[in-house]
Amino acid sequence: MRLTIAICVLLLTGTPAIAQKSRPHHRAAAPIATPPSTHDCGHNLTLHLSSPDPSQGSLLLLELRSANQPITEIKATWDSREIPFWQEPRADEKSPGVWRALLGVDLELKPETYPLALAAKTESAEEIPCSATIDVKEGTFATESLKVAPNFVEPNPEQLARAEAERQRLRAIFATLTPERLWDGRFHYPLTGVTTGGNFGKRRILNGKPGSPHSGVDFPAPSGTPVYAPQRGRVVLAEPLYFSGNTVILDHGLGLYTFYAHFESISVQPGDLVDTGALLGKVGATGRVTGPHLHWAATVNRARTNPLQLISLLGTIDQ
Ligand SMILES: [Zn+2]
Repeated sequence: MRLTIAICVLLLTGTPAIAQKSRPHHRAAAPIATPPSTHDCGHNLTLHLSSPDPSQGSLLLLELRSANQPITEIKATWDSREIPFWQEPRADEKSPGVWRALLGVDLELKPETYPLALAAKTESAEEIPCSATIDVKEGTFATESLKVAPNFVEPNPEQLARAEAERQRLRAIFATLTPERLWDGRFHYPLTGVTTGGNFGKRRILNGKPGSPHSGVDFPAPSGTPVYAPQRGRVVLAEPLYFSGNTVILDHGLGLYTFYAHFESISVQPGDLVDTGALLGKVGATGRVTGPHLHWAATVNRARTNPLQLISLLGTIDQ
C-alpha cells in the first residue's frame, strides 16, 4: 500500500511560507466553479474572464474579442505582473481575431481584489483601455501533520546551502518570459491512465513545524512508469536537485513552465524542444519522498498554480 501514500516532502523549493496562523483546517474540496464574466470595453471590444473570483492557486483564461477592427497588440498588467496575450490564428485578413492569455493566481497570494488593466492597440494605433477586477478567494486546502526523518526538516548547513542555491536558480527560470508560445491546444496528463493527482496546495506540518504548502500534484505510480510531455515545450532544466530529486522543467513560452520531480531516470537534455507525448523520464523516488510518485507543478508568470487546470481550462477553448 506504499504507493497510495507516496508523497514528496518538498520544503524549500517554493517561496517561503507566509504565516497564516489562523487558517482553518479545511479538508480538500473540489474547486467551486464560478460562472465566467464578460466586460464591455466599448469600441466593440469584449473582455471575457473564465472566472471573476478564482481561489488561490487557480489558473484563469482571459479572452479579448473585437467585433469589427483587428487588434495588433495588447498590454495587460495584473498584480504588478505583465500578462502576455497571444493572438489566435485569424480565419482571414479581415477577421478581427481573438486574443487570449493565461493568468495565474499564486497559491499564497493574499485573498483580496486585484485590478486588471489592459490596453488594446488597433490598426490605426488607437489604444482602447479596458479594466476588470479579479476577486481572489482563499483556497480550501487541507492541512496534514507528518512525522518524517529529522533531516527531511532540518537539513545540515551544506545541504541547506545547496537547496538555497537551487531555489534561486528556479526563481530565475520561472521569472524568464519566453515571448514565443510553444504550446498549442489542450494539455494532457503526463502519465498514461493516471488522473487521480491530488494534494495541490496542501499545508504541511512536519514534525510539529509548518512547512511550505505543496505546490504541485502528486500522482502515485510505480517506479519506471514513463512520464510524457503534456504539451510542446523546451527543456530548461534536467538534472538532480536536492529536494525534488531528478527534475525536469519545460518552458512552454509566455511565462508558462511545467515541473516534474523525483524521476528514477531522465530522458531529455536542456535545450531539447519536445513535442506533446515525448518521453521526459521515468517515475522514481529520488529526492525528499516517502515513495515513488510523480510530482507535477505549473508556474504561470511566477505564480504557482494547479497544473490540473491546464488540462481542464485549455481543453475548453473553442477556436
Ligand atoms: Zn509533490
